[in-house]
Amino acid sequence: MNIWILGAGAMGSLFGGLLAESGQKVTLVDVDDLHLEAIRRQGLRLETDAGDRRITGMKTCRPEQASGHADVLLVFTKTLHTDQALRSIGFHLASHTMVLSLQNGLGNAETLCRHLAPEQVMIGMTTWPADRVGPAHVRSHGRGLVRMLTLDSVDRPAAAEVAAVLDGVGLDCAMDRDVWQSIWEKVAFNAAMNGLCAVTGCTVGQLDAVPEGALLAREIVQEVIAVARASGVEADARRCLASVADAMAQHRTHKPSMLQDLLAGRPTEIESINGEVIARARRVGVPVPRTETLYALVRLVEARVLSGELPV
Ligand code: NAD
Repeated sequence: MNIWILGAGAMGSLFGGLLAESGQKVTLVDVDDLHLEAIRRQGLRLETDAGDRRITGMKTCRPEQASGHADVLLVFTKTLHTDQALRSIGFHLASHTMVLSLQNGLGNAETLCRHLAPEQVMIGMTTWPADRVGPAHVRSHGRGLVRMLTLDSVDRPAAAEVAAVLDGVGLDCAMDRDVWQSIWEKVAFNAAMNGLCAVTGCTVGQLDAVPEGALLAREIVQEVIAVARASGVEADARRCLASVADAMAQHRTHKPSMLQDLLAGRPTEIESINGEVIARARRVGVPVPRTETLYALVRLVEARVLSGELPV
């Protein structure tokens, strides 16, 4: 299997590294020359609970330098870059290439379908965490899982094979007919926690400093779950609220990725998280006033950060 990773940042390097370590043929496709060059020179330094090691043997290239065809493509760009990234390697996607997005947010399936036939698209979510420490250096501690499904829910041997390969390298991966529940519950969690931390500068635990903070997080979760349910997905508010409470208690110092992006002067995934929830809420006629307010506030902070006006 020729496995290509499109977007070899924190998550792409973690997945690519684990796959290469177990003997799979992996190509990392990215636009970060520093990161790619460092991997070429010294391998990928991967720190996980299994140890701190260097993984060599992966091919690396920019999209325009890619050659050949991928059998499997794992998409791990930030959601705002997916369209451009897929366009730039479109030529290398054969009719048999299976493409999996485990990116956060909603709308990923629609983006993939602009470039591929629906039968080639697999969608899912992962709870594995990963951080970039520097060029060619990624850290991931703790455990996670991967749940995935073909877009049309049809059982295909090629999709089952991808799940088996990911599971075989220790990523706890399985096909799951209820994957949309997990996707929406993660979106609800992220819409609340990422958005609120991004706009306030709070760590996850600091959201609990005043009762109004934790209440607002819970209310946003309830809004998003209401949209999911009105859209026909049996997402579970209680499970998601328990995750929020657990994060506030256990991951107090964590800075969610949306806050990290603003602190680094980068655009956020607000459109594919809160923005997509709002678009879907309008379609099904569910009011989401708090999600809309938070979306507008994050957009404002993001605009000032991107214009260089505001060091967060
Ligand atoms: P990241 O920023 O570390 O990596 C994204 C990579 O995409 C970067 O290396 C960037 O250079 C590359 N890229 C950008 N434009 C590109 C293009 N046109 N062609 C090829 N590569 C391009 O992001 P990440 O943290 O790995 O997150 C990736 C996705 O996974 C996001 O949707 C995120 O929400 C999701 N996710 C992240 C985590 C986590 O813990 N980091 C967990 C679950 C899901």
